[in-house]
Amino acid sequence: MIESLEENIEVKQSNIHGKGLFTHKFIPKGQEIMIISGEVIDEKECIRREEENNVYIFWNGDSYIDTSNTEKIKYINHNCDFNCEVLDRDESSLLLVAYKDIKPGEELTIDYGYEEIYKACSCTLCS
Ligand SMILES: [Zn+2]
Repeated sequence: MIESLEENIEVKQSNIHGKGLFTHKFIPKGQEIMIISGEVIDEKECIRREEENNVYIFWNGDSYIDTSNTEKIKYINHNCDFNCEVLDRDESSLLLVAYKDIKPGEELTIDYGYEEIYKACSCTLCS
């Protein structure tokens, strides 16, 4: 079995927004952190859910993956100075990978990669 880092990831109050994901353990750059999976939906359904303010939908180049029912990954916050990246895995999942070394206690962040987020962003790079 592949060792999963997911057990070392905790959901806590974030200084960025609402809740966020934090690591107990040092995570070296390039390390796989967790598999991102959820309900696979089509584009039409994705648009419908986004209109209902579902902000937990990922896209892997093939399908839209709604992570609303997950315990952890849905809480990952955006930061322009992100420390994690999302890579394609297969049709129904993605991978969360460390983009740089992450120290224990640090919040995990990704670049959400859509226009609106940059306008609303208050990270150190934006402010
Ligand atoms: Zn920013």
